[in-house]
Amino acid sequence: MSEVLDCLTCGACCRTGTDGRILIPPDDLVRWRRMGRDDIAEAVQPGHFGMTGFATRDDGSCVHLGTPGSVNACHIYEIRGTTCREFEKGSPQCLEFRKDAGLEKKGLTL
Ligand code: SF4
Ligand code: SF4
Repeated sequence: MSEVLDCLTCGACCRTGTDGRILIPPDDLVRWRRMGRDDIAEAVQPGHFGMTGFATRDDGSCVHLGTPGSVNACHIYEIRGTTCREFEKGSPQCLEFRKDAGLEKKGLTL
């Protein structure tokens, strides 16, 4: 089923709320600083489990969400965080985010 899910019509996992759920491993912060992207390393907020999370907008979306071509695309996609890179489309968590966003019916079996 996951192959038919289209992230560009979704973006639910990048709109998880303002409480720092999209976590950033410390190595990512080092990587961005080494690349000269201090702007990314600094666009963070306290995250769950005492970790660091991506800063969010008032509507709960990650500050990096949205490009001129798509509201659901990541504008740092090529160098996005490890958590983002490893997030699996079609996983239970993906489907839960989609359900919470109203993109799947409650209890839908995929
Ligand atoms: S919630 Fe799933 S389908 Fe939606 S953007 Fe994230 S990975 Fe893609
Ligand atoms: S960095 Fe990109 S992929 Fe990761 S949560 Fe933000 S918008 Fe989504």
